Amino acid sequence: MFYTLAIYCALAVFGVGLLYKMSGWFRFQIGTGPGETTMSTRVAAVLKGLSGVLFSPRLMILIRVFFRDVLLQLRILEKDRLRWIMHMLIFTGFMFLFFTHALDRIIATPLADRYYLKLNPFLIVPGLMVLAGIALAVYRRFVLKVPRLKTGPMDRYALTLLAVIMLSGIAMELTKLTSYEYYQFFWNIHVPACLLGLAYLPFSKMLHVFTTPASLLANGVMNEHSAAANVMTRQVMELDACTRCCTCSLHCSVAVAGDSLGNDLILPSERMAFLKDYIAGKQLSPRGLAAIQQGVYLCTNCDRCTVVCPAGINLRDLWFRVREEMILRGQAVPLTLTPLSFYRGLRQRELAPDQYAEPPRKAQQALGGDAARLRQPEQTIALAPADGGFGLSAALSGRAATFASCFTCENCSTVCPVAGNYDDPREHLDLLPHQIIRSLVLGLEDLAMGSKMLWYCLTCYQCQEHCPQGVKVTDIFYELKNLAAQKAARTSVPAVSGERAAH
Ligand code: SF4
Ligand code: SF4
Ligand code: SF4
Ligand code: SF4
Repeated sequence: MFYTLAIYCALAVFGVGLLYKMSGWFRFQIGTGPGETTMSTRVAAVLKGLSGVLFSPRLMILIRVFFRDVLLQLRILEKDRLRWIMHMLIFTGFMFLFFTHALDRIIATPLADRYYLKLNPFLIVPGLMVLAGIALAVYRRFVLKVPRLKTGPMDRYALTLLAVIMLSGIAMELTKLTSYEYYQFFWNIHVPACLLGLAYLPFSKMLHVFTTPASLLANGVMNEHSAAANVMTRQVMELDACTRCCTCSLHCSVAVAGDSLGNDLILPSERMAFLKDYIAGKQLSPRGLAAIQQGVYLCTNCDRCTVVCPAGINLRDLWFRVREEMILRGQAVPLTLTPLSFYRGLRQRELAPDQYAEPPRKAQQALGGDAARLRQPEQTIALAPADGGFGLSAALSGRAATFASCFTCENCSTVCPVAGNYDDPREHLDLLPHQIIRSLVLGLEDLAMGSKMLWYCLTCYQCQEHCPQGVKVTDIFYELKNLAAQKAARTSVPAVSGERAAH
């Protein structure tokens, strides 16, 4: 009676947990979206997309992905043979036991109701396979110490629980005909461990047993023409599909930056762990937030992580969306706000014009940029007295305060590729680099901060390198944009977030 109740409790927790997790895929979104979407419209979009695949030639792709990537896991084999052996041992052993032992009343008994062996190899062999896989996992993590592979409490817990289930199960099988006492002892370990594993599965890393195949299949049949609502749902699901295998971090082109910065958290596999909480709206520690900010800022969009990810996660698109999400929340690093930044350039075609231009415009406005006056040449701009204390009032660093040394030689504007890009740069940029610096010297800080040049700067550092006076031109631009981003976050986050529904 007690165990029957425990089984139903474990099943109930498993079911509710799974539903709760799945609802998150339809509740949350990352970055700008396709307009107003509710949970029901997103579920309907998934069903429509699924039926579109099942009744089209893309079904063949789905079948190929299922056999190649889900069953045979060839994406893992291509990268790491030892890891593939480990995976296959655990995967095939576990699945065999799940269907023929855990679900024996539904599957095994109707198929072979008279089949009974004293020592059942169909239980012992798969159990030993899972144990061998666990031993390989421990070997890779603690002896081989695969580079960039992190082992957290969740990994330890999952490996230990699985080992306890398998060991106690094999011991039960070995003792069932020799000692009822021992058999009962191991039963008392095996059954509660199985129930605990079942109840905990939706909340643990083991959920990837379901989500990784779903990610592989979804990415196999989705493309740039897929419904935006489905892309949104897939991206949230992909956060649960990540196994933190670290393959992406091993190939990431900026991983070395993590080493020199002493911040492992910028690695893509580490960022994924923080992203889940970030997207769910949980409060991140300053360290976690900085890791995401620094990671997406340093990321070069090289796409290597997407190509190698064995779970098929489209990481490049994910990082794009996370940048947009940070802009929406007022937590962007200034470079991502720049209209000419590389990643926004890549997204230009898919973002509506207002979505594309809005974030930099908001940040630009946050500093009360009075640059509109520059677009009215008939107006005279009154000169304020030179403000030597501006560096302090704007909380600029010592490096940035070097603007005071400028003698207006115009070298910075001459070498600037953004200024050189236009026949009439004043018309497009409001002020040239040397004019921004000059504005600061004259105390016209609102002009400097509101000018488009500040936001179009590519941070190539040419101006700074060519300045004969040692003015840290690019650093000054950075700090001004930082001030704008901080002010925008303080003053307009609710407005920006509220607009998400309208996007
Ligand atoms: S994103 Fe992919 S490659 Fe990176 S840790 Fe997750 S599953 Fe592995
Ligand atoms: S796209 Fe970014 S995160 Fe991915 S491998 Fe390249 S630099 Fe690393
Ligand atoms: S850092 Fe910016 S302002 Fe300086 S030269 Fe490069 S683009 Fe122009
Ligand atoms: S190069 Fe240096 S000194 Fe010359 S205008 Fe630019 S900031 Fe001023």
